Amino acid sequence: MKLLEKFQAMAGVRAELDGLGIRPFGAVTEKILSPTEAIVDGRRVILAGTNNYLGLTFDPECIAAAQRALAEQGTGTTGSRMANGTFAEHVALERELAAFYGRRHAIVFSTGFSATMGMGATLAGSGDVVMLDADSHASIYDGVRLGGAEIIRFRHNDVDNLERKLARLGERAANTLVILEGLYSMLGDIAPLAEIAQLKKKYDFCLMVDEAHSLGVLGERGRGLAEAAGVEEAVDFVVGTFSKSLGSIGGYCVSNHAQLEAIRFSIRSYIFTASPSPAVIASTRVALRLMQERPQLRAQLWHNAERLYAGLQGLGFTLGPQASPVVAVRIEDRETALRWWPQLLEQGIYVNLVVPPASPSAFSLLRCSVSAAHSDDQVDRIIAAFATLRTGA
Ligand code: PMP
Repeated sequence: MKLLEKFQAMAGVRAELDGLGIRPFGAVTEKILSPTEAIVDGRRVILAGTNNYLGLTFDPECIAAAQRALAEQGTGTTGSRMANGTFAEHVALERELAAFYGRRHAIVFSTGFSATMGMGATLAGSGDVVMLDADSHASIYDGVRLGGAEIIRFRHNDVDNLERKLARLGERAANTLVILEGLYSMLGDIAPLAEIAQLKKKYDFCLMVDEAHSLGVLGERGRGLAEAAGVEEAVDFVVGTFSKSLGSIGGYCVSNHAQLEAIRFSIRSYIFTASPSPAVIASTRVALRLMQERPQLRAQLWHNAERLYAGLQGLGFTLGPQASPVVAVRIEDRETALRWWPQLLEQGIYVNLVVPPASPSAFSLLRCSVSAAHSDDQVDRIIAAFATLRTGA
């Protein structure tokens, strides 16, 4: 069938990997043992490729709250937020998010993807301009394409490039939505948000920051890069997810703009999808509280991040530009990456394999991420496994 021919290339890649006897995309977790250990494809592994930054997925308080909600409110809401799917707990979580960020308005979405995509699609439409970092997440790209605005990419984390493009827009700069992420999930690098906030004074654009990987990770209170960079005032809309540091699923947007309440009823990914289930909302609310009560989790996360980064750097690997909970090992040729990924797995280390076109450039990545729940010993075992790749031991 002609329509299906375009999937041949992807089928070819799958066949190639099957031939090598590896399953890097869609490996099956047969049993999850803890935030940092699992049985994957029959092997006990240290999980070094999750987004479980604070290690809260097995927290007894989160689990108890979810179990209570399940027993008292059932398995799902069976409706969208705009119909029967807004329970008191969704509203309570929105209040708690707004209070956490010190902002007036918050929306809870069913996933992080639908939050980012929905906000991007709704804020900028025909006649508007979107300027986005070239390495933006798929949800950002998909959203702004749906919105119908003119899309202009600026070079990843390159403030001069952004400014040149803004200057070229003339008066249209004031009709522009600039979108970037706090901490980028591929290389673990951080956006130059303070400089971009400076540009806002000159060009008066609207700024949205996706703090998916920086909630609970950056900032004194865990509010993300905007807090860490001291420029929260400059960020019009913060979007993010519950699926990483909060260990559940769902997304959010917070803002001081009163229009967010009107925007809420224009977002298709909010209106036309079922709201998060009661158990999800219950565990998210507890995780949001624990994140604030336990700053030591963030300190432990950074301790682990720096230990892994220093260890892999010491082995001579090329890493992202700075230590962060995402530590990406850059590999020039795809074949080496495909060979090394199963070697790590054999040694009980599960990391993410990223090959072009999913990687930000022509190179491949063995992307590691750490959790506050990793012990020093586990981090050292990850480093030791990488050491054998170099020596071939
Ligand atoms: N934004 C960014 C930057 C992300 O990395 C992700 C998830 N990888 C999302 C949004 C989507 O979040 P979720 O997986 O919770 O839907």
